[in-house]
Amino acid sequence: MIPSPEQMLSKLIRLNTVNPPGNEFKVARYLQEIFTTAGVSSEIIEGEKGRANFIARIGSGTKKLLFLSHADVVPAGDDWDFDPFGGEIAAGMVFGRGALDCKGLLAPQAYAFLKLARDAAALNGTLIFAATADEEKGGLHGVQYLLKNCPEKIRADFAVNEGGEGPRRVNGRQIYFIQVGEKGTAWSKLQATGHSCHGSVPALGDNAVLKMARALVALGDYRPEIKFIPEVRFLLEELLRVKGLVEPLSEANVDQLLDKFRERSFAESLRAMTRMTVSPNTVAGGSKTNIVPDACTANVDIRILPGQDQNYVLDAINSCIGEGITMEIGNFVAPTFSSAKTDPYRLLVSTTQKLAGEGVPCLPHISTGATDSRYLREAGIPAYGIGHMAPEADPELGATIHGRNERIDIASLHFRAEFLKALAKGYLS
Ligand SMILES: [Zn+2]
Repeated sequence: MIPSPEQMLSKLIRLNTVNPPGNEFKVARYLQEIFTTAGVSSEIIEGEKGRANFIARIGSGTKKLLFLSHADVVPAGDDWDFDPFGGEIAAGMVFGRGALDCKGLLAPQAYAFLKLARDAAALNGTLIFAATADEEKGGLHGVQYLLKNCPEKIRADFAVNEGGEGPRRVNGRQIYFIQVGEKGTAWSKLQATGHSCHGSVPALGDNAVLKMARALVALGDYRPEIKFIPEVRFLLEELLRVKGLVEPLSEANVDQLLDKFRERSFAESLRAMTRMTVSPNTVAGGSKTNIVPDACTANVDIRILPGQDQNYVLDAINSCIGEGITMEIGNFVAPTFSSAKTDPYRLLVSTTQKLAGEGVPCLPHISTGATDSRYLREAGIPAYGIGHMAPEADPELGATIHGRNERIDIASLHFRAEFLKALAKGYLS
């Protein structure tokens, strides 16, 4: 007997894999138990003790499809209306940390995989299932470890991973999304230097905090160049069409058009797909009220689009912050991208439409944050993110990811399982 996706998810939520420390071996052991019962062999690869990666494969042949998810979760925090690790099933929902991110994908992937395993001989190719460790802390013990030490275990023609937006209702029409790229990160440190003196005669000094303040105001006023990568242009044009806005999209009018979307979080994430974003988020300077400060630092969260790089960031920010401030990029993660002009992408779209309804728009998007897909893409494995939910699912559920009261409806778990089964059959046939 293969447990249902909701039974699997309930059990997975009860296995506490908060990262740190992770303890993903708990999930790996449980999966091994149900896979073995279903007659499917599997392996557990631990880069470090307890940080288990669970992998199984069925079928044979040159075509390869990877179902990827991660077994760790972020801490729950306080103020939940239910036990975050209770895995309660009630009123058509499954409740708890990981219900969406990412055990709510892991469970339907495992379910679809085990269903397909019953007739693996019918597959013209290999289906790989991987539930990996450590995604929430950067994937060092998970996907990064596998790609470094045994890439053949997860190498595939393409991967289906988390990261896609959940469906949204626009002008009464349900729209589905496939994630094709992720913005990059260029966390930067700004440093202002001056010289100190007694605060009673400030003109004798050179106030570094004031210099930084001017630079930060300039960053706040800075309007990054708008750039439509083709997939985002297509996404926006289709959304405007569904919304009934006929005005042709341009760099000059995109902001006014986005203002017409009632759902603020959606409009702002669309806006962030059209430009670099710059947000100064910490600042520190000065030591005492009566000393003019000679140093001030600020940390700026900068996110860049596919096609932009470190030089782009340095040129843009340096031209804005003015003289006397130095800038250094500390943490750089390149943006990644998988083409939407491929057979796998087209299959993802047609499979979505088969389940959600013929003619339902299914559009590409890029994420403002990153998942393990970035490592796959860097290793030459195209990756596509899905966040599919059943057509009737509450769109508010998505807001519980990394927040309180995380939960998913059972119908969406089954919708995902059916989608994944149909996708694998479609590709490996
Ligand atoms: Zn995740």
